[in-house]
Amino acid sequence: MPTCSVDLPEEFDFHWSRQSGLKHLYKQFEAAVGSYQQFWNMLREIDDNCWVLEPEHPTFSSTHRRIALGPNISIHAMVNCRQPNMLPECRLLGAESAVADLREKLNVNLHRWDVDRSLLKNLEEVLDIDFPSPTSTSKEELSVSCGICYCTLLVEEVPDVVCEEKRCGQPFHRTCLYEWLRSVSSRQSFNTMFGECPLCSHPIRVKVLTG
Ligand SMILES: [Zn+2]
Ligand SMILES: [Zn+2]
Repeated sequence: MPTCSVDLPEEFDFHWSRQSGLKHLYKQFEAAVGSYQQFWNMLREIDDNCWVLEPEHPTFSSTHRRIALGPNISIHAMVNCRQPNMLPECRLLGAESAVADLREKLNVNLHRWDVDRSLLKNLEEVLDIDFPSPTSTSKEELSVSCGICYCTLLVEEVPDVVCEEKRCGQPFHRTCLYEWLRSVSSRQSFNTMFGECPLCSHPIRVKVLTG
């Protein structure tokens, strides 16, 4: 039985018998590739028309996308490769004040989800916004780098702790903010560290990291 390395969203499950040959294997691979066409088409529409923040270089096996919705606001969607037209598992990232509004819309507009529409069109419909596109918005305008280390990705971590002061709205990595607050000897109560935003001094808090 041969071993195959493939770039597919799922494991390549193939049948192999003593009579099988490469041609037989290729036919099965072709069928598998065919079954993901709708999934890839829907993701390609997103990759071509939106600011995809993650993965930086999507492959055929990537089933998630983090898409910028505005300055320091993004949506993380886990797409079902078998049913890409269904509502994906979504997580909104950004300042609670901005995210709360979108979360509300998502709940209220859920009935507008139409399986005959593309994933992107559906997301825009239920969130009631046009996703910023690379042709009209620069990445700097949507910057989501951490205010402490100035990076976006830190060992798989996105800067999702956000200063609640509206004019600031600076995002931080949980790890960076925790280390910062600890270094300026902030107040800790149970599992939360309280302190001030390193940029604007507005009160900010972060869950204490364990392990
Ligand atoms: Zn950081
Ligand atoms: Zn701030």
